Amino acid sequence: MKTEIPYDRFAHVPERIFGVVDLAYNLWWSWHSSASVLFKLLNRAEWKMSRHNPVRMLLETPPRFFERAAANPEFLRRYDIIMHRFRQYMEPRTSWFAQHYPGRVPLTIAYFSSEFGLHHSLPFYAGGLGILAGDHIKASSDLGVPTVAVGFMYAEGYLHQHIEADGWQKNVAEILDRDAAPVLRVLDDDGRQLVVQVPLIDPPIYVAVWKVQVGRVPLYLLDTHIDENLPENRSISHRLYLKELECRLRQEVVLGIGGRKVLHTLGIDYSAVHLNEGHSAFAILERLRERLVAGMPPDQAREQVRGTSVFTTHTPVPAAHDVFPEDLMAKYFRGYCPSLDLSWDEFMALGEDPHNPGAGFNMTAFALRMSRFHNGVSKKHGEVAREMWQPLWPDLPLEEVPIDAITNGVHMPTWLNHRIEGLFDRHMDSVHPNWREDYDNPAIWEVVDEIPDEDLWREHQWLKMKLFSRIRERKRQKWARHRDEPENLAAEGLMLDTSALTIGFARRFAEYKRANLIFEDLNRLDRIVNNRWRPVQFIFAGKAHPADEHGKRLLQEIYQYAQDPRFGGRIAFVEDYDERLARYMVHGVDVWMNTPIPLMEASGTSGMKAGMNGVLNLSVLDGWWIEGYNGRNGWGIEGRAAYTGERREDANTLYDLIENEIAPLYYSRSMVDVPHRWVRMMKESIKSIAPQFCSLRMLKDYVTHYYPSVCMYAAGPGRQTAGLEEPCLPR
Ligand SMILES: *Cc1c(COP(=O)(O)O)cnc(C)c1O
Repeated sequence: MKTEIPYDRFAHVPERIFGVVDLAYNLWWSWHSSASVLFKLLNRAEWKMSRHNPVRMLLETPPRFFERAAANPEFLRRYDIIMHRFRQYMEPRTSWFAQHYPGRVPLTIAYFSSEFGLHHSLPFYAGGLGILAGDHIKASSDLGVPTVAVGFMYAEGYLHQHIEADGWQKNVAEILDRDAAPVLRVLDDDGRQLVVQVPLIDPPIYVAVWKVQVGRVPLYLLDTHIDENLPENRSISHRLYLKELECRLRQEVVLGIGGRKVLHTLGIDYSAVHLNEGHSAFAILERLRERLVAGMPPDQAREQVRGTSVFTTHTPVPAAHDVFPEDLMAKYFRGYCPSLDLSWDEFMALGEDPHNPGAGFNMTAFALRMSRFHNGVSKKHGEVAREMWQPLWPDLPLEEVPIDAITNGVHMPTWLNHRIEGLFDRHMDSVHPNWREDYDNPAIWEVVDEIPDEDLWREHQWLKMKLFSRIRERKRQKWARHRDEPENLAAEGLMLDTSALTIGFARRFAEYKRANLIFEDLNRLDRIVNNRWRPVQFIFAGKAHPADEHGKRLLQEIYQYAQDPRFGGRIAFVEDYDERLARYMVHGVDVWMNTPIPLMEASGTSGMKAGMNGVLNLSVLDGWWIEGYNGRNGWGIEGRAAYTGERREDANTLYDLIENEIAPLYYSRSMVDVPHRWVRMMKESIKSIAPQFCSLRMLKDYVTHYYPSVCMYAAGPGRQTAGLEEPCLPR
């Protein structure tokens, strides 16, 4: 089994700079801006045309571009530096993990997720869960935590969003050209793409295997769109989150059982599995089955599988947990169940939701029962999850329900803008030259106070202009193509003013997120937006799930407000929110707003991305913001519950804050037009959010909380006491 870069397709790249081909196939370049600059220097136009897909760019670029670069000393100098850094990264003498866990039981974590958001050239994600998974494995790579990841090769990924003239969301599919993207076929010994059969499922389902290299972490992707499959099975990996229940079940069977089988076939000997949300939980069954087949006594097999399974639950919204009715489960698992040494009723009982017995097989309840280590994604969400799932541990008091909390974090090298990073560099380099490896250490961030206000403000203004110019360019192209109505030019941001206070709101159009909260009192909003001396603008973005009519109506309602001349072009809706637009937005707005119904937002992560770039959060105190807010780094609102009357109160709190605190602070300027008190808050935001809500901190939490115990179980019964005597806690 091997993966090979198809080097023969790059014969037009000269030897001297052939390393760019290796670089293109490792997403390391995507979080090292100096590496993407290299691609840009090679062929700027094609880099743009390919939408930052280096593989396509290299394939499409004529030889003379490479020859020119290979003869340019400045290019070669950069090339040599970057290739040196890349090779050092890939073969480090030591890593954080190796330093802190020397000589331990060799441990590899298999990280399963139904989506991975790594870069916009690979459309394998829908939203927050996928971006988090992508950030998680990037951090695993940075820290040297031995990890393999498993996910889906979606042909279509998630749909693109096109907004019609009347504000209705149209979904546009775009098929990924796999042979011109940073993905590789995994080949079998005969040199054909590896195809694996999902065990014990009838009629059989086969998956072809692909690989994306994410720094040091390989991500294996499953693909059912192959001739070996019956036509109805080919579409399983077509796109994310099929709405129809049976389709979803088949996806989850493929991801969990098929995914585990693929690792087995690849000969990857991992010791623990980390399930990012319940979609992949069937992997547990396959792990159990393997042990039973090998002759392990059932009790021991179960204990070992539980002891080496980590499960992260991501949502308190009951409807977001998959539940499969018994007849559907029977269709796929009647044949599988006997191999688990369980009766059918015992099997179904593993997935029983205590709140709703008889409803079917609940993937979250199943994953909680079958994993020993489980967590929610913020402290508050941990509490909510303990309460929600206490019935699974009826004998324990609420505080002792074993669901921990590990608060999410975002991958700083991905989300920190390189101009802001450059500013940190200049001030950190003399005091903390290695700050890039140590950025979860709060002490180093004190340096931020030494950055002159003018400098930070200037960079922020630059990023704001960049955002606005991106928005205008998108709209200009759409207008040229579709001959839009003039009011849609305003609605999609053509009239935004870089000097006005700008509030961003970008997320899925799910009801609990209350995207339309600020439209509760239109007269009040009108006064705020059109204040002559202190105008306020709002930029919205986000997709509704393609099958969610209610979400689409909500989106349309907002779009229509944006079209309304009453708001003077100061409310804008920007279409097709994705990781790329997210970057521009979290770098370029002044304030990042989030207004969910309290207790519904498990964590939220976009506010972390904004906060570390000095964009101030204005958010309901829910999810991560309860931990993040310190009274000096943004604004927190004690949100109320879901009822209509209280919704009005929440809106009023928001209006009061914007009108009486936020706008006056923003517009209070020095002689040279710098809002010093605002900039002080920006610095406080960076200092408090960057070290605490980065994926380095998150990953270290996972490692120190769970992985030592996992080691112990993975080592097997004979070595458990040895594991206990020498606890492998770092530092
Ligand atoms: C970060 C991110 C999200 C998640 O944001 P939330 O704050 O959790 O809503 C969703 N989509 C994209 C493209 C992102 O970058």
